[in-house]
Amino acid sequence: MIDVAVVENFIKHEIVGHALNVPNAVMRSVPHQLLISLVIGLGSCSLLDGDSGGSGVSDTAAGVLPSLDRPPLMRLGDSRVAAASLEEIQACEQRLGLAAEDVQLAHPTNFGERKARDSWGRVLQVKPMVIVLHETVISEPQALGLFKTNHPDDDQQVSYHMLIGRDGRRVRIVPDRKRAYGSGMSAFGDITMRDRPGSVGSINNIALHVSLVTPSDGRGDSHGHSGYTNAQYKSLAEQVLLWQATFGIPITRLTTHAAVDRSRSRYDPRSFRWDRFDPHYNHAAELCGLNQFNNEQAGP
Ligand SMILES: [Zn+2]
Repeated sequence: MIDVAVVENFIKHEIVGHALNVPNAVMRSVPHQLLISLVIGLGSCSLLDGDSGGSGVSDTAAGVLPSLDRPPLMRLGDSRVAAASLEEIQACEQRLGLAAEDVQLAHPTNFGERKARDSWGRVLQVKPMVIVLHETVISEPQALGLFKTNHPDDDQQVSYHMLIGRDGRRVRIVPDRKRAYGSGMSAFGDITMRDRPGSVGSINNIALHVSLVTPSDGRGDSHGHSGYTNAQYKSLAEQVLLWQATFGIPITRLTTHAAVDRSRSRYDPRSFRWDRFDPHYNHAAELCGLNQFNNEQAGP
């Protein structure tokens, strides 16, 4: 499975468009299946950033392997912050005045189960413990269309758990309990899960992936763009707080695709400003009385 590297690699299409002297408007009008084909044809190293961590070995084919030559089993330690109660979370949602999620689930080929065991039969962590921020690069309709498309080919399977529209709408793509294909080749610090022989490792098993819709001036492969709307920062901050409260995740485990990527090709979300996120986060945490997940309280 390739993960959202494919989505974000639509920036590469723009490069192709430029190289062929094709106007961007024409490139954007090309059906996304064809665009995927174009991307795959490029053979970019980032296309190895798959959910399988670069291994072609399937779960069933690998079975339970001998203990010899197995990589160390990496585990992220307890955070020491407890999850909030359901009542506290529901009260928080009411105080924030949250609109209901816009549910537009991905096609079942584009996400899977959090893996209970690796190919050596060892128990893996499955609880969400890390929140990873992304941007779409492509437009919201293009991204949603891509997620809803049947992708039987592993190399085309992509998803995030949630997408935040330019208007701040929270669009549900994959249920939290499922494994979204957001960062195939990745590690949080030195924590990763090499669950198959020859795999690079991924944190998808313990990750929640959320993506901000990129502004229209960010479609290309530029270093930055005009950034995200105030509504996006507000919704993102509120969603991060809810995830923290639900799963007991300290803010020290809120990170970016650029920071966890190990394919050496992802650098999103570009132009993200923590100083625009923090005021919304602090306000929401204060409103809900859920300050225990912030830096001052949440240790490693
Ligand atoms: Zn990303």
